[in-house]
Amino acid sequence: MSNEKTIPYKIYLEESEMPKQWYNVRADMKNKPAPLLNPDTLKPITHEELGNVFCDELVKQELDDTTAYFDIPQEIQDFYKMYRPSPLVRAYCLEKALGTPAKIYYKFEGNNTSGSHKLNSAIAQAYYAKKQGLKGVTTETGAGQWGTALSMACAYLGLDCEVYMVKCSYEQKPFRREVMRTYGANVTPSPSDKTAVGRKILAEHPGTSGSLGCAISEAVEAATSKEGYRYVLGSVLSQVLLHQTIIGLETKAALDKYDIKPDIIIGCAGGGSNLGGLISPFVGEMLRGEANYRIIAVEPASCPSLTRGKYAYDFCDTGMICPLSKMYTLGSGFIPSASHAGGLRYHGMSSIVSQIYEDKLMEAVSVEQTSVFEAAQQFAKVEGILPAPESSHAIRVAIDEALKCKETGEEKTIVFGLTGTGYFDMFAYGKFNDGEMNDYIPTDEELAVGFAGLPNVE
Ligand SMILES: *Cc1c(COP(=O)(O)O)cnc(C)c1O
Repeated sequence: MSNEKTIPYKIYLEESEMPKQWYNVRADMKNKPAPLLNPDTLKPITHEELGNVFCDELVKQELDDTTAYFDIPQEIQDFYKMYRPSPLVRAYCLEKALGTPAKIYYKFEGNNTSGSHKLNSAIAQAYYAKKQGLKGVTTETGAGQWGTALSMACAYLGLDCEVYMVKCSYEQKPFRREVMRTYGANVTPSPSDKTAVGRKILAEHPGTSGSLGCAISEAVEAATSKEGYRYVLGSVLSQVLLHQTIIGLETKAALDKYDIKPDIIIGCAGGGSNLGGLISPFVGEMLRGEANYRIIAVEPASCPSLTRGKYAYDFCDTGMICPLSKMYTLGSGFIPSASHAGGLRYHGMSSIVSQIYEDKLMEAVSVEQTSVFEAAQQFAKVEGILPAPESSHAIRVAIDEALKCKETGEEKTIVFGLTGTGYFDMFAYGKFNDGEMNDYIPTDEELAVGFAGLPNVE
């Protein structure tokens, strides 16, 4: 911690200081994440099997747990320069409002049109698809952030982009849908009659408003049944976490510039990609015995994968077609109550983040929706940025930790990830402003239903 240099409100890196490689934390992990399994044979999945669904270069990244650094191709570095480096902001105004001696920093990833960190992986995945000579990619989107990011990346590279959007989001979030279409994406409400699985679901459940699991099944079918297409996914996978390490590497470089050593690092956890990307370089130091940090994952009390889930092999999707992954999970059949942090409503967790948690290098807490929006509002009023509901989970815990410092008088340095903006979440803010938000916490009995559906795999 340096008192010599005055810390600016925003610490920017020069273009020349931007990371040129992603960091693969698995290389430094003594206990590697368990391998992905083929759901039919229950054997570790092979390059060939995964290559039918995903691009070759991404399959290599997915299955590699020994290479510590991957070069970021120049074309991706150039795209990153349009909206990166993202600022590391000293939250002077929030500190003052809280009256805390703690020093609070946040890494802001909402500075691009898609409004979140998801663009960091979207451009990488689209790039490798293009390089492989493919025509296009297919994906699903729930809340819409991922589909938007992928649309932007595909437009930039001239790649066809097919998005299956959960029908209720398609209807409730028309503006996200139109952003995607403006970037040239083909957006289909799911379930649809374009795929066999969609037609089957429509026949069995006429009038259904869809689900993420169903949209994944449609997107995978669309990719595998057409020449020149592959499927891409915006979270959970190790390749996504790898691309998101740009967040942590930039954060570390900015902190190092001012000799700042964080005490606490906080991130929100849906599928674990932003959190894993933020903490990777710091966890790497812990694994190599170079430093120690307190790391906190924050999840919604309505979907508590880490704090109440089981560490077990499970399906990544509700349709049970993707490989099995060992992770903290609530069971792929678990359906969380309607929450306004759509990006955090996932039953499982990245296998890397899960192993880091299992090895006690990280803590996890769950928070309730109303208190999350209270933190969001408090943050917006003093720091100016209107945060995404997902990101506000991290704000909640950063504020709580800063208030603890106020009691003890400790000058801790807190860093948290602010993953995005909330302009497309005003329906949720409306519920909060009207006092109509509910804080549903699943009972043990309800969680038992999800656990009962776990596959029987050791
Ligand atoms: C998707 C999303 C998340 C959660 O996804 P992770 O893979 O856990 O990072 C968090 N914040 C925002 C703004 C998102 O769009």
